[in-house]
Amino acid sequence: MSENLNPCITCGACCAHFRVSFYWAEANDAGGCVPADLTEQLNLFMRNMRGTNSKTPRCVALEGEIGQCVSCTIYEDRPTPCRAFAQSGEDNVANPACDRARARYGLPPLFTPQLHAITESYVSAGASTASDHVQSPGL
Ligand code: SF4
Ligand code: SF4
Repeated sequence: MSENLNPCITCGACCAHFRVSFYWAEANDAGGCVPADLTEQLNLFMRNMRGTNSKTPRCVALEGEIGQCVSCTIYEDRPTPCRAFAQSGEDNVANPACDRARARYGLPPLFTPQLHAITESYVSAGASTASDHVQSPGL
């Protein structure tokens, strides 16, 4: 496995676990960039990505099979919660929400205290960490 492989490419769990909601004006019918036809109104001020306001959520923009190979069909125009969501372990920081979403699909956590300890000892031994800084759910 390449050390630069972004785990999001073989995951996609967060795009099918959370309601992805954001300020309504992020959509492209209000001056933003998110394709409005892929959103629905949530309340007076918020919209969500279609498919995510459900007990079995899956964003309409997600393509592929979760846990295998996925991509976001609107990656360049995705809303702010998607841009802000970091994969667990990115920059050596845990994101429990990422690991929770992965657990729903039987995927192992990306960041555990044990992994953290191993990374720390690796770094203190003089090696640099591989971080591709891909913003998640970055596919
Ligand atoms: S951010 Fe986490 S849950 Fe989302 S696609 Fe990446 S690895 Fe999966
Ligand atoms: S990253 Fe793309 S596919 Fe995932 S929730 Fe956001 S818009 Fe949907």
